[in-house]
Amino acid sequence: MNSPIRALLSTIALLLLGSSAPPHATAQQTQPPLFPGKLDSVRLGRMVDSYLASARRSFETMLSVEGQRSASNTLRPWDDAMNAAMDASGLADIAVNVYPDSGVREEGLRAVERVSKFRNEIRTDARAARAFAALDTTRLSPVERRLTSLALRGFRRAGVFLPEAQRQQVRKNLEMLDRLSTTFARNLAEDTTRFAVSESELTGMPADWIARHQRDKTGKLILTLQYPDIFPVLNYAAKRSLRQRMWLGFENRARTRNLVVLDSLLRIREATARLLGYRTWADYQAEPTMAGSADSIRTFIERVREAAAPANASLLKRLLTRLRQEDSSVERLALWDASYASELLRRSEYRLDSRLVRPYFPFEVVSKGIIAVMSDLFGVTIRPTKLPVWHRSVQAYEVLENQRPLGRFYLDLHPRKAKYQHAAVFPLRGAVAGRQLPEAMLVTNFPGGEPNEPGLMELGEVVTFFHEFGHLVHDMFARQPYMSVQWPAEQDFIEAPSQMLEEFVQLPAVLVRLSRHEKTGRPIPDSLVARVRAADEFGRPREASFQAALAKLSLELHSRPVDSLNVDSMSYRALADLTGLVVPRPSHLATAFDHLGSNDYAATYYTYLWSQVISKDLWSAFHADRPFDPGPARRYRDLVLRPGGGRHSSELVRDFLGRPFAFQSWQRWLRGSQSPVGESSSRSN
Ligand SMILES: [Zn+2]
Repeated sequence: MNSPIRALLSTIALLLLGSSAPPHATAQQTQPPLFPGKLDSVRLGRMVDSYLASARRSFETMLSVEGQRSASNTLRPWDDAMNAAMDASGLADIAVNVYPDSGVREEGLRAVERVSKFRNEIRTDARAARAFAALDTTRLSPVERRLTSLALRGFRRAGVFLPEAQRQQVRKNLEMLDRLSTTFARNLAEDTTRFAVSESELTGMPADWIARHQRDKTGKLILTLQYPDIFPVLNYAAKRSLRQRMWLGFENRARTRNLVVLDSLLRIREATARLLGYRTWADYQAEPTMAGSADSIRTFIERVREAAAPANASLLKRLLTRLRQEDSSVERLALWDASYASELLRRSEYRLDSRLVRPYFPFEVVSKGIIAVMSDLFGVTIRPTKLPVWHRSVQAYEVLENQRPLGRFYLDLHPRKAKYQHAAVFPLRGAVAGRQLPEAMLVTNFPGGEPNEPGLMELGEVVTFFHEFGHLVHDMFARQPYMSVQWPAEQDFIEAPSQMLEEFVQLPAVLVRLSRHEKTGRPIPDSLVARVRAADEFGRPREASFQAALAKLSLELHSRPVDSLNVDSMSYRALADLTGLVVPRPSHLATAFDHLGSNDYAATYYTYLWSQVISKDLWSAFHADRPFDPGPARRYRDLVLRPGGGRHSSELVRDFLGRPFAFQSWQRWLRGSQSPVGESSSRSN
């Protein structure tokens, strides 16, 4: 079934390109990379401005058309404008997130603002909206019709079709929301709370973690509320009072300032939704998702809660029993106990010490292994290529299929000063079938990268590597004749392909290629894998319940009139009801919950869980005992990844599964019964 569809897609692409398009492979093979080599702030500023000028020329070309509107005089110049703006934004992303020079980084921030100003300007331009509305859609291809309807929906959602006064108000509101969102995040990042902790309170903390910390004059350890401090304390600190103090500190970060900011965000979101004709901000945000409505999100969260609740309740009992063996004064498990109790259980019942696992995953072995696994899985060649890079530790790669280039990417994987601190894929340049190859960069902060440093990785980091690679291959394979429809438009689908790839990590046939003990040179033994897996599985119902609580809080805060809201009691209710743990009352979590500040998430935190449910269903079509069987992976590439945003994500999932996605696979995963170790033969396609 896969090849005819592929053939059909490329035929459509060729038809759309017409005869004026440059010869297929040649133009792309000689495409110079977006990153030109050494940057300084002047050169960066000039390059960004020249991309923006080219974008503006294309946009003006589109507006200036007189007479009949068509794909070639409207969609193409619109897409060219978006494409040039994407180049500007890709360069700015390199500058801001990974470029070593601080002057370039600062110019990068200014460039980001210029790009976003340009994009907002053309996305709210009434003349552009009229141009799209004037297209005769019966003369358009399916992908062009989709591009057109997505663009028109975007104009409507930005208020372009409203009377002038309201249109201006929406625009002002959206700008204000952007500023408030930045402030909310900055307040959290700038939190300077410090705790001085005496040696006696640190029972259970790893010695190397203690040694890394500074001390005050009295010899007490200084702790912050940043992730590298709070997570280890919640996992390992035997003293309950310390865990509780850190948790309360964590949810009270930026409390006073963000209480005001969150209130303004909620009020302006509500007002904007009403101006645009929606009852609530949740309704507004739900419209362009797979879920489609706030009610359907609500039903989904309830379903997750129901599925996880019984297993969560019995897990909490086991955790309490285990914790009481150490500390009999604990009567009910609290938010700050659950991770620590899980760690105790992991060690006693699963005999798992992460120190046993790390030596199997030296960075070089893992990174070469992942590239080999991805090449085999998707039937492509991924090889290093000589391109200018911004730091000596960065490596450029190209992806080829039957000698024909598909795209390029950069791996920038080790920490250094002032570099982006999380793990993410940044698309740098969009794909346009037959005209332009995509470029992207994968950025992480994994150990290694220095001479004589083996860079032993945690298994969790290996999983993150796979996850991010999932975004990368999506970027490399998604191919449409217009860049504007390269990426899925449904936000609740975006994580599914990456979450699906995570499943490969724990398959013996995959692990044998990713692991080699730093001393013995042996791959990780199956028995250790099985224990790692079991230890990973038992916590799933608790994690799902916690995620459902956050999703509910995010949805409900944006579903009711702001005047009737009590944010703190709503946080308390969602957490207490769904997690089954003791929760501080009132709960101050909302003002420290970064996704609530982001206008992209706000009401839609559920998207992670939604994508996860889909990902487990997609995974059910693969053979865990024969992961390199080319059938499912190629079908998946052709039916799910390659169409990108050219069709609605629900259709892609349906094409691949032969039905709409369902909950069963996720429920099995939640119970931990999907282990391929010893169970793989029961998996069906
Ligand atoms: Zn992701």
